[in-house]
Amino acid sequence: MYDGGRRGLLKAGLSILVSASLGRHAAAASSVQGIDPRFGRIVAPDAALRTLYNGGRWCEGLCWSPSRGGLVFSDTRSNRLSLLRDDGSVTTLRDPSDNANGNVLDAGGRLVTCEHRTRRVTREEPDGRLTVLADRFEGKRLNSPNDAALAPDGAIWFTDPVFGIRQPDEGLMAEPEQDARRVYRIDPSGRVDAMIATLDQPNGLAFSPDGRTLYVADSGAALNPEGAAEILAFPVAGGGQVGTGRRFAAVTSGVPDGLCVDAEGRVYAACEDGVHIHEADGTRLGRIATPGPAANVAFGGPEGRRLFIAAGPAIHAIDLRTRGLGF
Ligand code: MG
Repeated sequence: MYDGGRRGLLKAGLSILVSASLGRHAAAASSVQGIDPRFGRIVAPDAALRTLYNGGRWCEGLCWSPSRGGLVFSDTRSNRLSLLRDDGSVTTLRDPSDNANGNVLDAGGRLVTCEHRTRRVTREEPDGRLTVLADRFEGKRLNSPNDAALAPDGAIWFTDPVFGIRQPDEGLMAEPEQDARRVYRIDPSGRVDAMIATLDQPNGLAFSPDGRTLYVADSGAALNPEGAAEILAFPVAGGGQVGTGRRFAAVTSGVPDGLCVDAEGRVYAACEDGVHIHEADGTRLGRIATPGPAANVAFGGPEGRRLFIAAGPAIHAIDLRTRGLGF
């Protein structure tokens, strides 16, 4: 027993030494896993996943903000909104943040934030005041806005699952007042319309480059084993008319959370085992593995080629061969 245990310890120690001596390239090779030759157009084989920050509880809501000089991110469970600069420094923007989750810039560059605790979507004005864009629908409180996306026509679309009123460390527990978990659209005039009511727990969302397809992650299986774990694609016509959704991709590792799209229309989905990358036709190209479950993903950096990934306490980054939509 003793010898066996000792051999085991020696073996473990040796493997740690071997891993350490292989250095960064070994770590990089294992974090990038293509399953289609087209994956090579996106990620170089030796591209390294770097950890930029590791001091959070549950990082979320990644949003590249050139005017602020870095990446805005939420730590939903620490109830804080922060800025991660290129030099690695982190500045607190809001503490508390009302358990902020998803963030997006509107057409004027103002920060729009989904808040769990206050069950609303807000916009930060140039003087720092917050304007409430949505907190009710048909007179009843929203569930807990989760994530938001900017449409080409300037509208802000957001999802409203129940995670922020069901998970005690992400908001205040409450019974939902809404009879569905919807996707809503905030018109530039301020009007709020319900657009999609057929999903289990809508979560991350992103538009295709032409704005005619809306991708929405359905994370129902996070609360119910029989629930959904898939990404849907909805046709969007002018004026914000939405057609019937179709399954874009099924997710087998946990549930999909945050989504983003690159300039060529590929879809990046934060999942339990990293970021899954799909061609616009739905074909899965490969995966960027993360040390912990990935919750959110966004492009940024000076040229828009840096993919930021929020995964538990950490924010990672990897430089790609393609750039994000809008850069
Ligand atoms: Mg989310």
